Amino acid sequence: MNAAEKQELFARVVASKQAVRTYAVLLDDGQLVSLELSEAQVEGFECMTCKTLCTSGLGAFRPAGRVLNVGTVFQCVACTGGAR
Ligand SMILES: [Zn+2]
Repeated sequence: MNAAEKQELFARVVASKQAVRTYAVLLDDGQLVSLELSEAQVEGFECMTCKTLCTSGLGAFRPAGRVLNVGTVFQCVACTGGAR
């Protein structure tokens, strides 16, 4: 599988995970908030803030919090303020 095929597969997986639900998210600063997130966001494929895809560079992700009993949410570097 070459890089372009891999990217296409990744895009297809993310496209299939767009069902939005409300989740209780425990942010890394200790706040418990209720957020509407897609499955892709909850499973760490997309930034929880701007929905950019997890890639490299400015799309690189950092953990931002936990969805109780589900998984970890991430923010891209641009949203965490690391790209100034
Ligand atoms: Zn973002």
